Amino acid sequence: MKKIGILGSTGSIGTQTLEIVRSNSDLQVTALAAGSNVSLMEKQIREFKPALAVMWSEDAAEDLKSRVADLGIKVLSGMEGLLELAVLEEMEVLVTAIVGMIGIRPTIAAIEAGKTIALANKETLVTAGHIIMPLAAQKKVSILPVDSEHSAIFQSMNGENKKRVSKILLTASGGPFRGRKREELLNIRAEDALKHPNWSMGRKITVDSSTLVNKGLEVIEAKWLFGVEPEHIQVVVQPQSIIHSMVEYEDGAVMAQLGTPDMKLPIQYALFYPDRRPMEGKRIDFYELASITFERPDTDTFKGLAMAYDAIRTGGSMPTVFNAANEKAVSLFLNNEIRFLEIYDLIQGAMENHQVTDNPSVDRILEAEAEAYEYIDSHRRT
Ligand code: NDP
Repeated sequence: MKKIGILGSTGSIGTQTLEIVRSNSDLQVTALAAGSNVSLMEKQIREFKPALAVMWSEDAAEDLKSRVADLGIKVLSGMEGLLELAVLEEMEVLVTAIVGMIGIRPTIAAIEAGKTIALANKETLVTAGHIIMPLAAQKKVSILPVDSEHSAIFQSMNGENKKRVSKILLTASGGPFRGRKREELLNIRAEDALKHPNWSMGRKITVDSSTLVNKGLEVIEAKWLFGVEPEHIQVVVQPQSIIHSMVEYEDGAVMAQLGTPDMKLPIQYALFYPDRRPMEGKRIDFYELASITFERPDTDTFKGLAMAYDAIRTGGSMPTVFNAANEKAVSLFLNNEIRFLEIYDLIQGAMENHQVTDNPSVDRILEAEAEAYEYIDSHRRT
């Protein structure tokens, strides 16, 4: 029996992780955490019977406590709750499916306690990769990628000599506005950006896919996960989302992982690695598919990718500012408070305004996040 905990169980990755638990009787859920969705959390608790549930909001935790009083399970709230979940003794694997930088502290706590990490929460690696990867190596903890591209890269490196990697080819769908020019993006609304052509995901990452910020975050995530410098990571647009990413080796061989776009595959792979379990689902029909096409990303129009390369080249606290400014700008965009293209302007402004700290501590990362938020708040007021 493998015992797992999920940070963000009510979200897109969280609910798909629970689908995998449903079809694998040797997985057991010991802990669940979410933000404020009490109704879904109650349903999940009644079905999966974890020992501990955490709601970020105190009110939500109180509400949940009274709803599940008949079950005698422990209910906690806030960062204290997330940190207690992260080190729960009986839990072996922590699935980090929370959205945003809130995942940093619980992920570090779980690594310190020796838990295997199935990592979806890319914002944590983007901002604190320089802390997390060495800590994981020191504690001999595996960080298994859940992001489909990183899982594909990981699978394409299985059994290979990593020193012989010459290039990572990170594929991108190009998002819902692929092919459009800047003038055609002026009046984009949140509901347009939320229509991803191939993947069904949470709201923030779907907007990030439309700006190419998500691809930028993935470049930074790949740098930390695989120890490959950004100049050896090439983004290739592959609109059908069939090739999930590729690795080129020094002899010119290219290894790739292909599949239909379904996040359950990389989630399940991370949960059972190194085993590969059977999974129901659609298979690629190559006759029907007929062709797979490739393009160069349009980084002049979709500036998120170019900004991410700038952030990671500068290093230190700059990727935090890139990420935090994006988180804030995307939430304003989703509330219809700013226009689509202003997301780029706000990120750029916050990055230009930032005094970089090399090798930032977690406290400094969180300060840099707060500074980026303040920059955007004051910029919005003027
Ligand atoms: P969703 O928005 O669908 O879900 C986010 C989850 O996090 C929800 O369960 C939410 O709870 C919970 N949450 C939010 N804030 C807090 C908090 N402060 N404390 C505790 N829980 C919180 O996001 P996704 O599932 O799409 O994405 C999760 C992560 O995975 C992101 O980092 C994303 O980049 C990454 N990822 C996602 C992919 C996808 O296909 N969706 C693919 C690859 C990576 P509540 O419902 O109560 O708000």
